[in-house]
Amino acid sequence: SVEAVGDVGLIGLAVMGQNLVLNMNDHGYVVVAYNRTTSKVDEFLAHEAKDTKIVGAHSIQELCQKLKRPRKIILLVKAGAPVDEFIAQLEPYLEEGDIVIDGGNSHYPDSIRRTKELEAKGLLFVGSGVSGGEEGARFGPSLMPGGSPAAWPHIKNIFQDIAAKTKEGEPCCDWVGETGAGHYVKMVHNGIEYGDMQIIAEAYDILKNGLGLSYDELAATFEEWNKGELDSFLVELTADVLKYKEEGSSVPLVEYIRDAAGQKGTGKWTAIDALDYGIPVTLIGEAVFARCLSALKDERVRASGILGAKEPQDLLVSKSKKDFIEDVRQAMYAAKIISYAQGFMLLREAAKVNNWNLNYGGIAMMWRGGCIIRSAFLKDIHHAFTSNPQLENLLLDPFFTKAILRCQKSFRRVVAQASLWGIPVPAYSTALSFYDGYRSAKVPANLIQAQRDYFGAHTYQLEKEGASGKWHHTNWTGR
Ligand code: NAP
Repeated sequence: SVEAVGDVGLIGLAVMGQNLVLNMNDHGYVVVAYNRTTSKVDEFLAHEAKDTKIVGAHSIQELCQKLKRPRKIILLVKAGAPVDEFIAQLEPYLEEGDIVIDGGNSHYPDSIRRTKELEAKGLLFVGSGVSGGEEGARFGPSLMPGGSPAAWPHIKNIFQDIAAKTKEGEPCCDWVGETGAGHYVKMVHNGIEYGDMQIIAEAYDILKNGLGLSYDELAATFEEWNKGELDSFLVELTADVLKYKEEGSSVPLVEYIRDAAGQKGTGKWTAIDALDYGIPVTLIGEAVFARCLSALKDERVRASGILGAKEPQDLLVSKSKKDFIEDVRQAMYAAKIISYAQGFMLLREAAKVNNWNLNYGGIAMMWRGGCIIRSAFLKDIHHAFTSNPQLENLLLDPFFTKAILRCQKSFRRVVAQASLWGIPVPAYSTALSFYDGYRSAKVPANLIQAQRDYFGAHTYQLEKEGASGKWHHTNWTGR
């Protein structure tokens, strides 16, 4: 009989899977590795996994036989049908309490369904967001596990051991919540990543094409910014990108890259979800649309010949070049605060709709290391939600209230200046509009309600009667 020596199993020996297996091995776990194309198992054992405790399996049955109970099996295969196919293949060999973990980029409704299906059979399911790419998987990813809560005590040590650590040594992994919560949080993470990238790209555009900074000045500016409130992986890599020159070239490579952004769809998922839930996650939405507009490259080139190019003008709203650079820094910080406030609004609504007990402070901690949006700023968000788990909105936390009030003048100057220059700042302007709307006790929706009643008899309520007041209809024309 086969001896059950494995602490954890992994299916899918592509880039992510191989690196995660090696990471678990480094932390002392005996990993049993399997891949659909079994020759990859042998290649892996002979090369990357040589001289490790990693064990190979050449069938699903062998994999299951080699695992200690309750079995923990991580799937790192292509998202979609392959996940369901492997679950179906595993089921005959699993016993009550065994745990199937999907670490791929699955869409969260699939994880909700899979949790229910497996729990109905006495098994446990975990859908875990994994962020940080190849490097993260190897040396410490951000891990966002959700699904069957009963699984967490069994996988907690492995997950927190292999996860990235913050500077203070805390693991960037905690239990997120029930059913699809882990993959939901990963999806919102990716949406926020779209937003952060757009915020940075707009600052680059304003400073380069408005203020006329050279690439050297741009790189130095981002490097400087990375030392303060904006300290983050994306700002750091931006400074690197702005400096990178190919051999023999005096101009950074980025200047030559075609300005048409690609996307794989997770930002779009977040934006669609925000629309479905009725939550104004406007900055991520604009970030997705900005990529769509960028992709219309040929049409933009034609239009620029007809509608006119940007006309550079002097600074109109800031005192000096130096002051304006500081304005842009503060605008970036303000836009970032608003984007995260919106992201957490979406998480709160999703938790309500799906009955998840989301751990907001823990989510901020999970994003602090290992993943693309890692930043110093998430420490303040972690603090905001741990000191008040009931916090209605990030903007209402005393630290962030103070920060946004401090930055708002600069923020307005940047949006105004960019619009005078004709430089598009969709993320900054939508964030500012959101902020002004959110802090308005009165918005012009009274007129919208009157219009709706006028043309469609949709009825309206009176302010003095409140949200539970009667619905009224008026014959507006007297006809
Ligand atoms: P991948 O290219 O997404 O998937 C390759 C693995 O899936 C291989 O083991 C392959 O087996 C298996 N597979 C593919 N199609 C299959 C099918 N129809 N039926 C059964 N198995 C199938 O690999 P990856 O880039 O390492 O990513 C793994 C998962 O992690 C994905 O969900 C991905 O979205 C997610 N992820 C990736 C990154 C990243 O940076 N790459 C980051 C986070 C999350 P064969 O060898 O037999 O073809």
